[in-house]
Amino acid sequence: MRQKNVYLDQTRQRLTARLNRVIGASYSFFGDDDKWLYFAVGDDRTCEQCMQYEVGKSFVGAELLAIFPYLDIVDVDWIDVNIHPNCRCHLRRNVSYKGVEIP
Ligand SMILES: [Zn+2]
Ligand SMILES: [Zn+2]
Repeated sequence: MRQKNVYLDQTRQRLTARLNRVIGASYSFFGDDDKWLYFAVGDDRTCEQCMQYEVGKSFVGAELLAIFPYLDIVDVDWIDVNIHPNCRCHLRRNVSYKGVEIP
């Protein structure tokens, strides 16, 4: 358990550092103040694994990697969840939360 938490912390740091390097700015993704909304791609290929999460369901950044261990940060306001190979579901930053605007 302890091992796993260390791994998640390192993964968070690695992903955050990588994206911040790419965009040349500092964003937080996995903090308690980062809110993300789940979006499933609703077509006939959406499977039960993906549908178990309600569209528009809100997640706190700090819990993301425990729920979606294979996630990948795509942009400052976009995270692919990769629930399974070729999964097209993603999280979008909840910008209405705290009225934060993403440039
Ligand atoms: Zn699926
Ligand atoms: Zn999916």
